[in-house]
Amino acid sequence: MSLNPDFIHELHKQFTGDIRLDSAAKILYSTDASIYQIEPLGVAIPKTQDDLQSAVELAAKYKIPILPRGTGSSLSGQAIGEALILDCSRWLDSILNIDPETRTATVEPGVVLSTLNSASAQLGLTFGPDPASAERATMGGVIANNATGAHSILYGMSADHIISADVILGDGTLEKWDSDGKSKLIPIVDLIRKNYEDDIKQNYPKTWRNSAGYRLNYLLPWSPSAPPHWVGENYPANLKPHTWNLAPLLAGSEGTLAVIRRATVNLVPKPKHTILGVLSYRSIADACDDVPRLLNFKPSAIELIPQMILHLARSVPAYARQMGWIVGDPSAVLVVEFSGDQPSALKEAVRRLGDVLTVAESLEDQSRIWNIRKMGLGLMDSRPQTARPVAFIEDCAIPVERLGEFVREIERIFSTHDTEGGIYAHASGGCLHIRPILNLQTKEGVRALRSISNQVFALTLKLGGSMSSEHGDGITSGEWIEQTFGKDVTNAMRMLKHAADPENLLNPNKMFDAPPMDRQLRFGEDYQVKVWNSTLHFNYERGLAGAVEHCNGQGVCLKSNGVMCPSYQATREEQNSTRGRANLLRGLITRNPNDEVTEAVAQALDLCLACKGCKAECPSGVDMAK
Ligand SMILES: Cc1cc2nc3c(=O)[nH]c(=O)nc-3n(C[C@H](O)[C@H](O)[C@H](O)COP(=O)(O)OP(=O)(O)OC[C@H]3O[C@@H](n4cnc5c(N)ncnc54)[C@H](O)[C@@H]3O)c2cc1C
Ligand code: SF4
Repeated sequence: MSLNPDFIHELHKQFTGDIRLDSAAKILYSTDASIYQIEPLGVAIPKTQDDLQSAVELAAKYKIPILPRGTGSSLSGQAIGEALILDCSRWLDSILNIDPETRTATVEPGVVLSTLNSASAQLGLTFGPDPASAERATMGGVIANNATGAHSILYGMSADHIISADVILGDGTLEKWDSDGKSKLIPIVDLIRKNYEDDIKQNYPKTWRNSAGYRLNYLLPWSPSAPPHWVGENYPANLKPHTWNLAPLLAGSEGTLAVIRRATVNLVPKPKHTILGVLSYRSIADACDDVPRLLNFKPSAIELIPQMILHLARSVPAYARQMGWIVGDPSAVLVVEFSGDQPSALKEAVRRLGDVLTVAESLEDQSRIWNIRKMGLGLMDSRPQTARPVAFIEDCAIPVERLGEFVREIERIFSTHDTEGGIYAHASGGCLHIRPILNLQTKEGVRALRSISNQVFALTLKLGGSMSSEHGDGITSGEWIEQTFGKDVTNAMRMLKHAADPENLLNPNKMFDAPPMDRQLRFGEDYQVKVWNSTLHFNYERGLAGAVEHCNGQGVCLKSNGVMCPSYQATREEQNSTRGRANLLRGLITRNPNDEVTEAVAQALDLCLACKGCKAECPSGVDMAK
């Protein structure tokens, strides 16, 4: 499919931002942080709200699929597609208001979460859900993925913090979704509430930590369970019975229901003091078995870090320096955080946990531990090898009392596939990130991908869990939606989608009719490269191609602090980030490059300062300067 020339002509007349239809731009936006690759139809980068609106209106007029996008740090493939990408991260990044009285913030979709948090911190406030990617994740992406993080047992999900949103529907209609409940979707919402309440209650996963499908349960409002230490009055989202507020539906909708122009979100008081206690275990499953006991002490977070990540952290220079808190060589550790107003009470809480390996009282000591946990994902992929930790079953959430059982079964599945993998993350909420090590450039690797996915889905369903609990369905879990929710609830979701986007133009093939999860792989069986004889040797990286392929797209280089990456920080252009350069180079060695691509690679490398910021800070160890 290519873009209609009349559409391009009209868009050029109305749009003040950048429109990029060249091959280099398509390479840059054909990947996110997932294992997939799909070339977009083009890229439009709106400079103003009017640009965003006219792009959606014209797309509706010419029936062009569109995909609103933030930083593209999604792990399930929902930020890529055969559509016109609307990159909201570059210019639609204003914080419009922070109101300390109502504890709310109104933001444009491109505002980076950590920027919002820095501004809110001056008023003693913060956004509750805290994805580990906060330093680059945009609020549009945070909301549309229903993101959350380590503190989900206090703050729940993003869906629990959206108060209202200005949106554009698939046909270009502008609406405000708030408690007034004025929307042309209301009749369909009414019908879903009346006819599907029992089906929803019966078929939704049994865990509150759920990002799969749409949040139809927020319309009732109802949740199968609540975050153990939920800060609000009612769960979900402090919603009152008979709510007509459609804003929570945006959470986890992955750009398929509406384009977010602005959102007003809830802020929570920033805890005055925190303390961390680290406990060690003889196995990951043993650590998970202990989580229900630890929850009784009312911690604010419990995070799992396995031996694999601890070992890898010691091998990356910037992280090795931060490892003084680990004593011995435990198979797994749980990091337990307490927060509150009284430091003495927090110390007492840690003391009651039992045999603690390390206590971190100062913020400096705590941030060393959090850094290792937050960079876990990148660290796991820091080894130069063709068999890599693959992200496709990494967002399962299981009712926490069955977490140990889940881990033992996962380890059995790994061993029957002759592999191992990393298992870590938000143990307190029952959400484990799991990455089996597979070589997807072989038939056997792709076969294992499919087989492990089938088995883990069956296991997750059996234990009452959800395949997606913060990262979204995208392509990795899209095909499981109907089996998760059953035919009737899936039909109700389709009805909602049809009402919001009758022509199926908003991020098509996500949520419904998703492609099989083992196709459209970035590194699949057919992956081939053509490299030139380089002057430098790349023995450690498995050759020049290995060095280029090392970037997994997680986008830490798109943050605005630290050293990496100065050329991106100055220009805010994807091609001037470490990730952009790696993607362009990969484009160069995997296809017959045309002049556009060659020129784009030359320009992107020309702006690289060779500062080695990426070598030190990229958790996967990408070294662009080399
Ligand atoms: C290393 C790493 C760690 C991560 N840790 C976490 C974690 O702890 N918790 C977590 O929840 N996630 C995590 N993620 C996943 C991801 O970073 C977050 O979900 C993040 O919020 C996505 O933001 P983004 O700006 O990159 O969105 P994108 O990836 O660009 O987009 C995400 C989705 O939002 C939609 N979207 C974007 N803008 C709009 C808009 N204006 N209107 C409508 N839809 C829109 C897109 O279509 C897409 O479907 C992690 C990712 C990585 C690589
Ligand atoms: S070496 Fe180049 S790509 Fe790496 S951080 Fe510095 S400017 Fe960015």
